[in-house]
Amino acid sequence: VILRNVTDPESASLVGERITESVKLPVNLAGRDHYVQASIGIVLFPDDGSSIEELMRRADGAMYRAKDLGRGRAVFYDRALLLNRFETSQSRLYRALRRREFSLFYQPQFSLADGRLVGLEALLRWQTPRDGTRSPGDFIPAAEVSGLIVDIGGWVIEAACAQLAVWREQGIAPARLAINVSVQQLKYADFPRNVRRILEKYGLPPELVEIEITESVFADEVAGAALRQLAELGVRLALDDFGTGYSSLNYLRQYPIHVVKIDRSFLEDIPMNPASATLAETIITMAHALGKEVVAEGVETAEQLEFLRERRCDSAQGFFLAQPMPVAQAGELLQARRTPDPVEALRQAG
Ligand code: C2E
Ligand code: MG
Ligand code: MG
Repeated sequence: VILRNVTDPESASLVGERITESVKLPVNLAGRDHYVQASIGIVLFPDDGSSIEELMRRADGAMYRAKDLGRGRAVFYDRALLLNRFETSQSRLYRALRRREFSLFYQPQFSLADGRLVGLEALLRWQTPRDGTRSPGDFIPAAEVSGLIVDIGGWVIEAACAQLAVWREQGIAPARLAINVSVQQLKYADFPRNVRRILEKYGLPPELVEIEITESVFADEVAGAALRQLAELGVRLALDDFGTGYSSLNYLRQYPIHVVKIDRSFLEDIPMNPASATLAETIITMAHALGKEVVAEGVETAEQLEFLRERRCDSAQGFFLAQPMPVAQAGELLQARRTPDPVEALRQAG
């Protein structure tokens, strides 16, 4: 939102409040009220920057602070505060990368037709010296603001591919390994070439690797072009958290997406809420009609699993089936898959 002729910051702040208040009003979808909030970062020209890039970056930083302060509010850019916050977290993240405090957990995905393990998703974890293990939701936003996500994400791809190569050598590799990639990484010029280099380094057939992106990439032309190059390389592309972003069906048609991952918010209240059930069912039907595979995430109950199976969803992932696990445990699971009685083998593996 651009306000012209702002004479004092107070008037910008009032507009911010009016926007957050009106966004807070419930939205009725298929008979059920839904609530959303807006977090707003405000910058003033020319005090906070002279170029649009600088202003946008600082507005973005202020928005993250609005989220930190509890969301649903408008916050002014504050140079001293923001520099401090991002510099400390950036240097901590940078140190974490140098000291090898990151690791990958793996969460299995199972075929709904026959229960076979069809893939693993690599999920980043940060083993901090002081605060224990931290989940990516905690630190990836800061890494995105500082740009460090490019380095951290580079480490993730390298580590995941190295692990896949080890499993291949042991003859236990899953049919695919999914890796999450941030839109910032895709925007970085060399991303597709970097992926190709890593695949070659570890001798991996590209179709074993699935790159998970979110709908936000479609808002960026450079990232969109990178998607096409990745698809040309032969890696699979999965659209993560489907249904939470733009969810434009047109994008599904325009881009070479192989897999649609239904966001877990649609499963949360299945089978209690008919609207969510209808939406999940529609996403499955639509994705199939477009020739895409469908993975459901966040399966927490037997009912949800049955629901998905009946609707011919292809595969599922969630706490009900298996938690994200450290590499050794994932290796045991893959090993057990090869033996005649997996349950017995798992028991023996402890
Ligand atoms: P995501 O890719 O949608 O990953 C699924 C998240 O849901 C994971 O959280 C997983 O632990 C969690 N989850 C799995 N099953 C269930 C379930 O049954 N119930 C519930 N409530 N949650 C479940 P995690 O590992 O904390 O990751 C959060 C997000 O962080 C990921 O969402 C992904 O967007 C991002 N992320 C994770 N690893 C990376 C990475 O290496 N690079 C980038 N750029 N982002 C990553
Ligand atoms: Mg994911
Ligand atoms: Mg997801």
